[in-house]
Formats: sequence, structure tokens, C-alpha cells
Amino acid sequence: MTLPEQPDGAPPPIYLDYQATTPLDPRVLDAMLPYLTSRVGNPHSSTHQHGREAMRAVEDARGQVAALIGAQPNELIFTSGATESNNMLIRGAAAAGARSGRNRVITCATEHQAVLKVAQSLIAQGHDLVTLSVDQTGLINPAAFTQAATDTLAVATIMTANNEIGVVQPIAALAELAHAGGGLFHSDAAQAVGKLAIDVAALGVDLMSLSAHKLYGPMGIGAAYIASRARRRIDPLILGGGQQGGHRSGTLPVALCVGFGEACRISLAEMAVETRRLDQYRADFLDILREEGIAFDINGAMAPRLSGNLNLSFAGVDAEALLMRTGRHLSISSGSACTTESLDPSHVVLALHVGRDRAESAVRISFGRMTTAEEVTIAARCVAKAVARLRTVSYTGSEG
Ligand SMILES: *Cc1c(COP(=O)(O)O)cnc(C)c1O
Repeated sequence: MTLPEQPDGAPPPIYLDYQATTPLDPRVLDAMLPYLTSRVGNPHSSTHQHGREAMRAVEDARGQVAALIGAQPNELIFTSGATESNNMLIRGAAAAGARSGRNRVITCATEHQAVLKVAQSLIAQGHDLVTLSVDQTGLINPAAFTQAATDTLAVATIMTANNEIGVVQPIAALAELAHAGGGLFHSDAAQAVGKLAIDVAALGVDLMSLSAHKLYGPMGIGAAYIASRARRRIDPLILGGGQQGGHRSGTLPVALCVGFGEACRISLAEMAVETRRLDQYRADFLDILREEGIAFDINGAMAPRLSGNLNLSFAGVDAEALLMRTGRHLSISSGSACTTESLDPSHVVLALHVGRDRAESAVRISFGRMTTAEEVTIAARCVAKAVARLRTVSYTGSEG
């Protein structure tokens, strides 16, 4: 996380972009290291001790991931990340649904591109896609969902917590509505797992996507939860040697699996305390803006919302200008890292129907495990100063 100091000796920027990715927890690295150095073994080589030992490490990790979401270990398939899990689960459920005469797919306008693009690609294959809108708070209207969840529903895919505005959807209620139409319910929970208490059984979710690098684990690994009852309704995306019960072929990356498992264990143990700490940071940040007399709008409902997430618009201040002005001191973002370098306003904030100006001024600031109280204070003062400066400039029309 810590960058080297800048060429002129100034300290590196403070990292406040935990929704894009989280730093690897040093305890996770410690757990992984033996599997990157001294320990060799293909976990699928069951004929010798090296292979069996690698498989034991993988299966322990699978158990740790399962424990975090209340699943059975054999309901979790390791993948390369939430993007792959979304592709596998949504395509798989749509294809299986179509075979039994179910053509409908439901999603929502504020989903991550790894859901939206997959869902849109299904239209060309003859599926009937319904993309639900959200209200100003970022929440789906359950009545609209009910209307869309007809008996032709194959799968509904609604994220648990949003990666830009942090808003948490009423997943249990939506899953029940999807089941009433006989459909499956999938949730992209990349942002939620490890941050919110998740119990797949209590939620009634059939399918879920997870990503390790959003919860202080390594990049390049994630998981797909497939409830036992839904197993036969998901076709594999990646074919090959038939590993993981044929659901996802390919040699499992032992060190990444072990790191993901350890990251899940730590998140489960520390979640309650961490949530309170991040809630406090967020409140402190907003208090400083108010003390400095900076007017702002919060995009999306404050609750239910992920701790540590803020998405703010400063009227009259362009987000890109603000990022440029604060960039030497802060790593914050506008919109989503996942839409790669595009400077278009966020599709999520646009979907709140709060106006294009507000979307163009939206910035996401997110706190996490390595954030300190001092960094929060510095960051809030830095943002306040930059906003005040940019507002002066835009009112007088010159940098003067
Ligand atoms: C980060 C993220 C993804 C992509 O996850 P990868 O593991 O990087 O592929 C998908 N959905 C959401 C909500 C995310 O935040």
C-alpha cells in the first residue's frame, strides 16, 4: 500500500480507494508464503504426499471461505475473481433456464459492469432481459421486481452492496420474490463479503460471487457459491481436466487459495469491531467538511450502506478537477476503477436520477483496515481545501 515518497520528498498519497481494491493483509501474505516458496505440489496429484498436502491446504481454505458466508465447503468453487464468477453463474443459470423454457433474466441499472455486460450479452442469445431502475437512494423497488419475476424467470442478479455508493439491497426479500416465480437468485457480493454479516442460508441466495482482493486477500482469486439445490442448474464456463467437480477446470493456485481462506478467517473475526471503526471515520470525515463550511450531497442512502464508503458530489465542482487537485495527496476515485480509464460520469450515480451535474461531480472515498484516524483528518481537510479553491475559480471564472 505504501508508495515510495515523491521525487520532491513529499509523502506518498493516502490510499482511500478500498472499494477498488484492498491492500494484502500482512497475515495473509505470511500464510501464503510457504506455498510460494518451499512447498511444492499439484493439489490434483492425489497419488503422492506432496499433492495430498497441497489439496489439504486448498480444502482448509475452502472451509474458511464457506464459514464466512454460512455455506457448505462443497458449495464453493474457486475462480479467478468475481468477474469470472459472475460470468459463470449468470450465463450458466440463463442457459439452464432456457432449456426448461425459462427465458427471463432480471438485473438492475446500478450493477457492476461484470454483471451488466454479461446480462446484456444474453439478449442476442434470445433471453428476455429486464433491467430494473433504482430510486434516489439507490434501492430497487420490490413491487417492480415482483412484476418482473414471472414464471418465465431463469435468474435474477442483484448485487448485495454497491461498489460505488455502498448501498445494500434487501437481498433476502428479493431472493424470496425470485423463488416465487421459480427462478434462481444470484448476488454479486464482491463488496459485501467480509464487510457485512452474510449467511447464504438465511438470505435464501442460490448463487453468489466473491472476490479475495476486496477483503485484503490476493488479486486473481475469487469464488462462486452454488447452493447444492442449484448445482444442476449451472453449466461450467471453463472446461478441461474436470477439477472442482467439473464446475471449473484448471489447476487450483494453492497459495492464492490459502491467502483467500486466511483473509476470510480474519474478516470474520474482526468484522464487528472494524465496522464500528469505519462508521466513525466516515462520520468524522463529514464533520470536518461541515466545520470547514463545505456543502456536499451524499449519493445514495446513508443506510443501509457499507461502512467506510462515501460517495459525494460537490455542486459546481467537476470530479476530474477535484481528483487532479488532490491527487498528490490522496488516492480517491470518480466512479468505478472497473470501467477502465473512462471519464464518463458514473452509470451508478446517473441511475439515481439526481442529474448529470451531480454525476459529473461524484467522487468515491473509501476507508479500510489500514486507514488511520490521522489520515481521515488530513484527507477531509485536503478535500475541503480543494473544493473551496475550485468553487472560487468557477465563480470568478479564472484561477487569478
Ligand atoms: C471488484 C468487483 C468485481 C470484480 O471483481 P474481480 O475479482 O476484480 O474480478 C465485481 N463486482 C463488484 C461489485 C466488485 O466490486
